[in-house]
Amino acid sequence: MDNCIFCKIVKGEIPCKKVYEDEQVMAFYDVAPAAPVHVLVIPKEHILESARAVTAEHAALIGHIYQVIAKLADELGLEGGYRVVTNAGPDAGQTVLHLHFHLLGGKLGPMA
Ligand code: AMP
Ligand code: ZN
Repeated sequence: MDNCIFCKIVKGEIPCKKVYEDEQVMAFYDVAPAAPVHVLVIPKEHILESARAVTAEHAALIGHIYQVIAKLADELGLEGGYRVVTNAGPDAGQTVLHLHFHLLGGKLGPMA
């Protein structure tokens, strides 16, 4: 989608610190980390603005994303645990309207 930062990252038009890519999914470090480890995991296609629009037809993709997150957490040394956050809508402070999951690791504070 035009004017979507994450679509531009997928296309290579904006640089990123990539940690993973396959046919469906890409993961890269958040430019403004909110935790010692902060990676964004996104579907490469701009299929949804947020988790709010998820339906049964996205089940396989969402399952795959969570598998990728678990694999990345292992690879990034998050044996002590991690948090997955997906902001949906303005009250959650969502700023990029391309479905994405924050993988947060390291010593984390309480949830807001
Ligand atoms: P959200 O607030 O859930 O929409 O999260 C969007 C996230 O994207 C924020 O944590 C931003 O720091 C991050 N972000 C924005 N632009 C970039 C970029 N060019 N590269 C990496 N992360 C970005
Ligand atoms: Zn997009």
